[in-house]
Amino acid sequence: MLSRRLDRRTFLGSLASLASLAPLASLSRVRGQAASDAPPWGPVRDCHFHLRPDLASNLAHMDGCGVSNAVILARDPTAEQIRAIQQHADRLTWAASTDITAAGAAERLTAAVTKGALGFGEMKFHLAADAPEFQRAYALAADLGVPILVHFQEVPHFDGEGIFATGFKTFEVMLKKFPKTTFVGHADAFWANVDAKYANDAAYPTGPIARGGVTDRLLGDYGNLFGDLSANSGNNAMSRDADFARDFLRRHQDKLIFGSDCSCADGRGTGIAQANNPAASRLAGKCVARETLALLQRSTESAVFRKLVFDNSRRVYRS
Ligand SMILES: [Zn+2]
Ligand SMILES: [Zn+2]
Repeated sequence: MLSRRLDRRTFLGSLASLASLAPLASLSRVRGQAASDAPPWGPVRDCHFHLRPDLASNLAHMDGCGVSNAVILARDPTAEQIRAIQQHADRLTWAASTDITAAGAAERLTAAVTKGALGFGEMKFHLAADAPEFQRAYALAADLGVPILVHFQEVPHFDGEGIFATGFKTFEVMLKKFPKTTFVGHADAFWANVDAKYANDAAYPTGPIARGGVTDRLLGDYGNLFGDLSANSGNNAMSRDADFARDFLRRHQDKLIFGSDCSCADGRGTGIAQANNPAASRLAGKCVARETLALLQRSTESAVFRKLVFDNSRRVYRS
C-alpha cells in the first residue's frame, strides 16, 4: 500500500500528464466512444468499475476496452480521489461504499451523496441480506433517492473468504419492505439464481438453465430490482445457455445494466481480470468488459444492446 503522500503525488502526476490529452478525450466523448483501437461498441457505461490507484489507470482500462463512461465504485474515497474523478465528470461518475457495520456509516454515505456520489456500492459485507445494517442502508438509499448495489454470494471462492449478503432466495421480502429503494443485484448468488435448480452449492453453476429461477421472477415482478451484468458471475450466467440468454436479455431489456468488475490492467486482458477469485479462471487472460460486451452484442438486437450498456444505467443512476 502506498503512503498517502505517494498517492497524492501519483494523482497530481497523472492529472498533469492527462491535461495534454484533454482535446483528444473530448473528441472521443462527442463520438460516444473511447479513443483507441478498442472495439466500436458505441456509447458504453461500465457501472461496476472499482476505483484504481490513479486516474490514468482508470482511463487506461476504459479506453483499452472501448468503454466511454464509467460509474466508479469507491470505498471511502479521499477528497483527492473525488476531485480527480470530478475533473472528468463528462466520462466519470461515482458511487460510494463504507463499512455499514461501523459507527457513522449513515453519515459517511450521506456525505458522499452530498459530494456527488450517484449511489451506494458496492455493498459487500459478511451479513445476511436482511440484516439490520443492510436494512438501514436500504432505507437511507430511498431517503436520498439513490440506488444501492449489493453483492450476493453464498459460496466462498477460497478458504477464509466468507460469504456476503446471504439469503437472496428470500430477498423478495426486502423488495416488498422497501418499495421506494432501487436495488441493483450483483454477483454469484444473484446470477446463479437465474436457474430454478440452483441450491447455493456452487459459485458458478454450469450447463443448461432450468427456467423460472428466483432472479428471473423477481426482475419480472419488482420494478425496484435491477441486475448488474458484471464479473464472471454475470458473464457465466449469460454464457451457459444461449437460448435462455437471448430470451432473458430480451425480456429484461429495461432492467439490466452493463458493468465489468474487471481488474485487468489495460482493457485487453493483461494481468488478473477477476482478482482474488480462482473460481473465475475461465476469464484468465481476458478482459471481462470486452468478453461481456461481445456476449451481449451477439445475444441482442442493437437497440436492446444500447439499453443494456448505456441507456438503462442513466435511468438507474438518474444521471
Ligand atoms: Zn462484487
Ligand atoms: Zn479488463
